[in-house]
Amino acid sequence: MTTPVESFADLGLSESLLKTLSEIGYETPSPIQAQCIPILLDGHDILGMAQTGTGKTAAFALPLMETIDIKVNKPQALILTPTRELAIQVAEALQSYAKNLPGFHVLPIYGGQSYTIQLKQLARGAHVIVGTPGRVMDHLERKTLNLDSLKTLVLDEADEMLRMGFIDDVEWILERTPEQHQTALFSATMPEQIRRVAQKYLVEPREIKIKAATATVAAIRQVYWQVSGMHKLDALTRILEVEEDFDAAIIFVRTKTATVELADKLSARGYAAAALNGDLNQQMRERVIDQLKSGALDIVIATDVAARGIDVPRVSHVVNYDIPYDTEAYVHRIGRTGRAGRNGNAILFVAPREIRMLRTIERATRQPIAPLTLPSRADVTNKRVASFKEKIAEVMNAEGLDFFSNIVAQICEEHNVGAEEVAAALAMMAQEGKPLQVAGEDPPPPRAFDRNERGNDRRPASFGDRAERKPRFERDGERSERPRFDDRGERPRREDRPPRPAPAGDMVRYRIDVGREHGVEVRDIVGAIANEAGIESRFIGRIGLYEESSTVELPAGMPHEAANALKRTRIRGVPINLRIDEGRPGGGFAPRGDGERKFRRKPGSDL
Ligand code: AMP
Repeated sequence: MTTPVESFADLGLSESLLKTLSEIGYETPSPIQAQCIPILLDGHDILGMAQTGTGKTAAFALPLMETIDIKVNKPQALILTPTRELAIQVAEALQSYAKNLPGFHVLPIYGGQSYTIQLKQLARGAHVIVGTPGRVMDHLERKTLNLDSLKTLVLDEADEMLRMGFIDDVEWILERTPEQHQTALFSATMPEQIRRVAQKYLVEPREIKIKAATATVAAIRQVYWQVSGMHKLDALTRILEVEEDFDAAIIFVRTKTATVELADKLSARGYAAAALNGDLNQQMRERVIDQLKSGALDIVIATDVAARGIDVPRVSHVVNYDIPYDTEAYVHRIGRTGRAGRNGNAILFVAPREIRMLRTIERATRQPIAPLTLPSRADVTNKRVASFKEKIAEVMNAEGLDFFSNIVAQICEEHNVGAEEVAAALAMMAQEGKPLQVAGEDPPPPRAFDRNERGNDRRPASFGDRAERKPRFERDGERSERPRFDDRGERPRREDRPPRPAPAGDMVRYRIDVGREHGVEVRDIVGAIANEAGIESRFIGRIGLYEESSTVELPAGMPHEAANALKRTRIRGVPINLRIDEGRPGGGFAPRGDGERKFRRKPGSDL
């Protein structure tokens, strides 16, 4: 492992938080947590290079919570995130860490949510605010959010904020925070512009980077399944059923609670499975490993620490049910299979948000990890039928069948049926409780994570477990497929920028009451619409920027929710008053685009 730190208690956290961590099943700190927590507790600023899946949320959230004075009902920490999805997720994480902190209040604020509700929540007070830059800026301007008591500021996924065009808003916010506060900036990559922000606003920051050790992992077949359309547990059992050469497996999860839950669920499905976590004493741990060796158990569900050093040659498969925190943990995990000269198989479950970690692992191990197609119902059924036939063939070769042959003959005679019908009835009896046919539907195949020329991952046009089923309007502030920045993460100068390509499909042109005289730029409009209405920037068409007003093309057939959100939207504090553009004179598009003026009004649309 990257870090010798074995326990949260070594990091200087309070008893109350340690108790919570143990209750929610966190066994050991992840490498980024081991590095960041003591530094943040000491009051230093941090510049952290870390991506999703490394445990960075707890790395900044736990120290931040130690500084909160519950009696002071004012925002003492502000966390800025690029998307509402992440804001909610971070707020939920903080709420879970506040389990033993009565009266603690965290509030997510993001575009697209009703102002009335947000104003009420802000008036009620919160200790921590987690928000997207646009909305936080709005509340600061309206003076509905006051940062006078701020102690900690966190910029999460800073490079994403840059990529989405929010960096000016972030700086605007940074300019308006009190002098005395701690700042932590996390970013998966460190483009020049983020470094510049760090230099300007962080005070002697400690730099934290998770080591991406390279390692060779020969003789192991490595595949990944993109989590979508099906629960991980169902996918796991489908995969295990059809895997060739399956003998035994170690399944890695993150928390000790998860080891027990998954072991119970697999046992209920008929697998000989048990949990292996840090709560087991040495004797119990050895017993589980012995059982795995002897074949009394086929599956062990383990945390990283508990599985350290396991050497059981019959382990044919390692499943990374939860993605590991870093490449070193990955290499260590998969080293539990392919032992004693045998073939090994490593299967990795990757949620859409974790795709970056997958690529980091591939780079570190210098091996591509191939996508795994989830076995279909027919695949599983065929496999079950094949092994059922095998079992029957084995029994047919066994001694002592005469007695049963007699019985079958009697049944045939008594019921005047053939042996085939009797055999079918017996087969049906034999599979009772363990059906050969798989019920339910096959999920649609996931859209593969594709890569652009630069080798970066693009999200599929529809992605993610939750996002996948959502109409595009509901996806707030999600990343655009078309990067609005150059390779160094810098925004190209205006004259270098390519014209905004028109998205496919019917577009409607709207007018808004903000323009150059309000200090508004194209990116402000894109950012506000992306965040407030949840319209991905690639669906936003051409934008015409004029002195007093602007025009913007949006997809036809906008749902009520998005339309209403946009009616209330402000940009730089000015209500935009979005409405269909009536094509007033001189209201054509500025020559940013190709000069073509496609404009179609959709009758009966919401605006
Ligand atoms: P993050 O990288 O912050 O998005 O965290 C990824 C996941 O890891 C979340 O589900 C966390 O709850 C979980 N997690 C973070 N730290 C730990 C830990 N020390 N032990 C177990 N799970 C953790």
